Amino acid sequence: MHSTLRRVLTAIVLAWGILLPALCLAQAAQVRLDYRCAPPSPSPAPVMPGWQAAAGWLPVPDAGALIARGDACWLRVAAAGALAAPQAEYLVLQHSTMLHMTLFDSGGRQLPVGTARTDAGGALEQGWRTLLPLAGLQAAPFYLKLDSSNPAFPERVIARGQGPLPAVLQEQQRTLMTTMLASTLLLTSAMFTAAFGLALREREFGEYAGYSFALGLSLLCYARLDVMLLDVDAGWLWQLATPLSTCLLCWLALHFGRFARSSVWLARALHMVIAVDVALMGWSLLALAGVPLPMPPMDRFEFENRQDMVVESLIMLGGWLGWRRAEQDSQDGLLLMLGLAPSLYIDLVHQLWDPWLAPWLRAGWGYTLPSGVDYAIHFNGALTWLPLPAMFCFALARRALRLHRALGEERLQLEARVALRTQELRSANAELEQRASTDELTGLPNRRRMMEWIEHEIERARRYGHELTLCMLDIDHFKRINDEHGHMAGDRALVAIANVLGSTMRGADLIARFGGEEFVLLLANTGPQVAVELVERLRASVAAMPLRGDDGCHYSMTVSVGVAALETGGSDSISRLLLRADQALYRAKNGGRNCVMVA
Ligand code: GH3
Ligand code: MG
Ligand code: MG
Repeated sequence: MHSTLRRVLTAIVLAWGILLPALCLAQAAQVRLDYRCAPPSPSPAPVMPGWQAAAGWLPVPDAGALIARGDACWLRVAAAGALAAPQAEYLVLQHSTMLHMTLFDSGGRQLPVGTARTDAGGALEQGWRTLLPLAGLQAAPFYLKLDSSNPAFPERVIARGQGPLPAVLQEQQRTLMTTMLASTLLLTSAMFTAAFGLALREREFGEYAGYSFALGLSLLCYARLDVMLLDVDAGWLWQLATPLSTCLLCWLALHFGRFARSSVWLARALHMVIAVDVALMGWSLLALAGVPLPMPPMDRFEFENRQDMVVESLIMLGGWLGWRRAEQDSQDGLLLMLGLAPSLYIDLVHQLWDPWLAPWLRAGWGYTLPSGVDYAIHFNGALTWLPLPAMFCFALARRALRLHRALGEERLQLEARVALRTQELRSANAELEQRASTDELTGLPNRRRMMEWIEHEIERARRYGHELTLCMLDIDHFKRINDEHGHMAGDRALVAIANVLGSTMRGADLIARFGGEEFVLLLANTGPQVAVELVERLRASVAAMPLRGDDGCHYSMTVSVGVAALETGGSDSISRLLLRADQALYRAKNGGRNCVMVA
């Protein structure tokens, strides 16, 4: 992705991550559950057609019903004598998110149903619960009409009576805040993880962000809170966000927890859950688009609860397997397991105590839990989602740290390899340079190197006013040596003369093979007289040097030398100096060889 685009996206995501929680909390702080029970004023009202005649009144309290779309469910609340619990002050209706209720008093007059606050008599609808006051209604019953707007699944309602009103209002407020906190944390962590994922280009961070976002959104819809752009039919969003978050959780378990490595069967089961939830989303979307679909016999609420238990159990199993395999990546699955444990526990208790889902238990143990436990289980369920993002962020941080360390080690290895290669390259270059400037047979500098050296020395001599003398040395009748004693002997003679030159001359002087059997000596800080003395000594030691031919015969050789000193005044160039030395050498050859001539 283009880096500017990535930067802009990261900035947006981070800004939203800070803005969103602030807006959510501001919204939550505004909601005041200020509910007052007031009896509806008696007034003559039209008789609602159908409601008196409605068959199958739901027995109150502790009754449940599934309502398909188009069907209406009537509920008559005759408080006196109908409630088993004498201290009950209100009726609580638990229902899923797409149920709309209309409240009538005994005269058929419609009563308000408020979402946050109501001063008049009526019902208070908050999240997935509605409170109906019983105070003042002891004598006259009131009536509830429940309509479902869910075209895909039946909606569910459970009615039960509860204890003192102030206590439950307090619990309601606490539940609201808990749900808000959980969803806000999930959404915020989603934003920050998405930003990290973008910055680090790590896909796993993006997967986690998607899951966290879907779960946070589903909780937000569940609480029926209209925040920012969510002022839409939250029920539909909930129906899509919930299976989406389940899909992403299974996907995360498979990839982030590496559960596929732990067990093939586990991976298959998680893939199956993903397929079911994708189908569920498809079903919901088709129904939303107006396709007439048959009503399944089970409501979404019940399905979600059972599926949650299956998924949570599978993930805990995967975490345990990963922990046993003691593999670092799979052990992150263990963190998933720990994060999901409270949720599984609560779901389990929820299932067991749900009067509808476990009637056998209700029949045996009684239907009502102690109110504190009931609230802890049903209304603070959102709290159980809090450990999950925390565990996930911990696991992501662990993985990021591992990634960082691995990258650091890789960098060090790379640097070491680069240093080694550079060293190898340097020595190869030095060898190449050496070869390019050295004569192979004698090991002396070759002509190329010699020319550079002479140029440099001429310049130096000019700058400091030093003397400089060049001697050109040629072996006498070398062709004859080759012819009479063999080419190998000729080569040995060249090496021998190079050795003599090396041992006779000073370290600062240049000795180079000019070509064939000709050598050049460059004497720095040396005048022609001293040079002639030195070269004479050299000529004598060459003449005294014993040599042996390929045939085993002993022989000796002589050299002729031309000496030329650098002229003062700066008119001498390198070619002129060489020419003058060559002319002197020519004179030495003409003068009988085995002698030294000065230009
Ligand atoms: P002069 O005294 O006039 O210099 O006679 P010369 O025979 O030394 O001169 P000439 O230039 O006629 O012959 C040089 C010979 O050196 C010819 C060539 O075969 C021989 N030579 C040149 N380079 C090498 C070499 O690397 N090895 C051997 N064995 N011979 C070489
Ligand atoms: Mg020659
Ligand atoms: Mg010669």
